[in-house]
Amino acid sequence: MTDEHLNSLTASRQQEVIRYLKTVIEPILKNNVVSLGMVRNLCIVDDYVYLRLYIGAHQQDFFKEIQYVLSNLSWCKKTYIQICTIPGVKVTLAISSGKGGVGKSTTAVNIAAALKLQGAKVGLLDADVYGPNIPQMLGLGQADIQVIHTPTGEKFLPLEIQGIKLMSVGLLAEPNRPLAWRGPVLHKIITQFLQDVEWGELDYLLIDLPPGTGDAQITIVQESPICGVILVTTPQQVAISDVRRNIHMFRQVGVPVLGIVENMSYLICSDCGLRTPIFGSGGGEQLAAELQAPLLGQIPIDPRICSGGDTGHPIAVTNSTSAAGEVFVQIATALLGTFCLMQSI
Ligand code: ADP
Repeated sequence: MTDEHLNSLTASRQQEVIRYLKTVIEPILKNNVVSLGMVRNLCIVDDYVYLRLYIGAHQQDFFKEIQYVLSNLSWCKKTYIQICTIPGVKVTLAISSGKGGVGKSTTAVNIAAALKLQGAKVGLLDADVYGPNIPQMLGLGQADIQVIHTPTGEKFLPLEIQGIKLMSVGLLAEPNRPLAWRGPVLHKIITQFLQDVEWGELDYLLIDLPPGTGDAQITIVQESPICGVILVTTPQQVAISDVRRNIHMFRQVGVPVLGIVENMSYLICSDCGLRTPIFGSGGGEQLAAELQAPLLGQIPIDPRICSGGDTGHPIAVTNSTSAAGEVFVQIATALLGTFCLMQSI
């Protein structure tokens, strides 16, 4: 067989495998495992199929189901499936932004707090290697990370604060020293972070990604079973073009974008209640329409968000009925509605 024939045979087999895989439906999300980004790195070599399956702790049955579906391929001698999962964690979500300072960590903390308030078991992984400030936002100073021995090796034990399990790259660094990890060291730290934390049972693990689309982000997105990403932006055009690049990265890997949160959308006058769009308006809506991703909410500028972030009091907890608090609560409610994990708690 010529190289050309071989390539076209492999391409048509790949299409056939994808067609078969698309018959496997995730019952809660009512969509197929390919569209949900659960199957990645699909590769066909000779008569063998190789793929990676990114699943939550409650989705182990897909392994057998996919094996069964692909056993119907006439030419396939064997399917090799590598499972990528975080033990004990059902739904892993990423919070991302095109650039720093737009309120990504604030959003991650407040959604986590709002999910917790509604009864979910929540973990937060602060993987923002360039500015890990989630511990402070939850009121935690420098703390020692404990390492425990488990049957599968040594693991980091997450800290628990305000009912949220927390692990942060910042807790591994010395206080007031910049985190200057690069290249292979950064890659190793990130993968260790994803694999070596003993979370216990979690309904939701939120990963606060570093801003942008560099090596660190790509490693995390490729190595973890993220089943959806929430993108945070401010209304300005500059921040928005960064988000476009960001969305592109997720779509290339196959991770679904759950929606966009527009932060610092407007300022409410404390006297008359008038809403002033300090940084312009319509950016989030325009982006949501262009990228066909829902606009999950618009968060006003509120000094209580800033002071609450500095003192470890998320506005979703302290002022849940404020305009900003309500948006975070609504997003958490929408997530709970989408993933429907509460019945199984
Ligand atoms: P990022 O994670 O994108 O770098 P942060 O969440 O750390 O951004 O937010 C940057 C700063 O802006 C923090 O001091 C935070 O408290 C503040 N901030 C974020 N969103 C708001 C808002 N809507 N109103 C007021 N301050 C905000």
